[in-house]
Amino acid sequence: MYDIVIIGGGPAGLTAGIYARRANKRVLVLEAMVCGGQIVNTSKIENYPVAPGITGPEFGQILQKQAEDLGVEIEFERAKKITGRGGDFTVTTAEDEEYKAKAVILACGTEPRKLGLPNEDRFTGRGISYCATCDGNFYKDKVVAVNGGGNSALHEAIYLSGIAKKVYLIHRRNEFRGGAALVDKVKARDNIELVLNANISALEGDKKLTGIKIDQDGKEKDISVDGLFVSIGRAPNAKKLLSDLALTKDEFVAADETCETNIPGVFVAGDVRSKDVRQLVTATGDGAVAATVALQYLDKLN
Ligand code: NAP
Repeated sequence: MYDIVIIGGGPAGLTAGIYARRANKRVLVLEAMVCGGQIVNTSKIENYPVAPGITGPEFGQILQKQAEDLGVEIEFERAKKITGRGGDFTVTTAEDEEYKAKAVILACGTEPRKLGLPNEDRFTGRGISYCATCDGNFYKDKVVAVNGGGNSALHEAIYLSGIAKKVYLIHRRNEFRGGAALVDKVKARDNIELVLNANISALEGDKKLTGIKIDQDGKEKDISVDGLFVSIGRAPNAKKLLSDLALTKDEFVAADETCETNIPGVFVAGDVRSKDVRQLVTATGDGAVAATVALQYLDKLN
């Protein structure tokens, strides 16, 4: 029986693990892919205090080592279902392993939102990607498009402009949601062309993506591209784990700054929680709070 099982080995989950281990609790982190979460897709972190310029993968590795050195156990398995009640939960993974826990912290983050257009799944990995740092190198000296207007899309466009010959940045409004500093960087790149007030209406190609159709101010237009990076936000993914979990209308886990969910013994941290600011620093902050509140819960159980 673990004291706490944490779902997700990103900044929120691993920070929660560190706090819980420092209170001598037995802690397991279940991570479906690699430690570090979404930040491993970031080439350079510039807004985390004390570590300017660190890369996302470095951040993930250092955090994982810090957690493991303190005795946090990590299993690379995808959590599938959580059953039971406070003090006695069972977490079942996709590999059908079962882990028992007195308390659970959901730190499972989000997954890329899709365009929902025909051929999107078929062309994924054949011209469509949701991660520039993962797949950008396939597009050296080619023409690519990035879709979205948030910080992630701006980052992706800047990163790709250093690899591809040309980057179209397609956004559905004429103002960006992302921060002014990033917008300025985008505008300073000669090989980024802004395509504003435009929605992608079709994905074209036979065996792979060769172009996109856009609807710009009511007019249809074709753009030939070798690759399309979809960066239109991320959707939370906790809904499938637990029945009866209170969610917002956008399906984020409903919880205030105490990180307590509606289910006693279940806590939430990081991007999957309902909140306004989703940043590395707020994720680690959530991890500390969720673990501290979970520790108070465990004290009351005994
Ligand atoms: P986001 O901020 O939610 O931006 C999503 C963008 O996609 C918006 O511009 C939105 O347009 C557009 N969009 C949404 N649905 C669309 C659709 N169906 N078709 C076309 N466009 C669509 O998401 P994000 O950029 O992934 O960032 C997620 C969070 O992480 C944010 O809080 C962000 O600030 C944070 N983040 C921070 C940094 C950093 O600080 N350096 C880096 C990356 C991410 P509208 O603007 O019109 O709604």
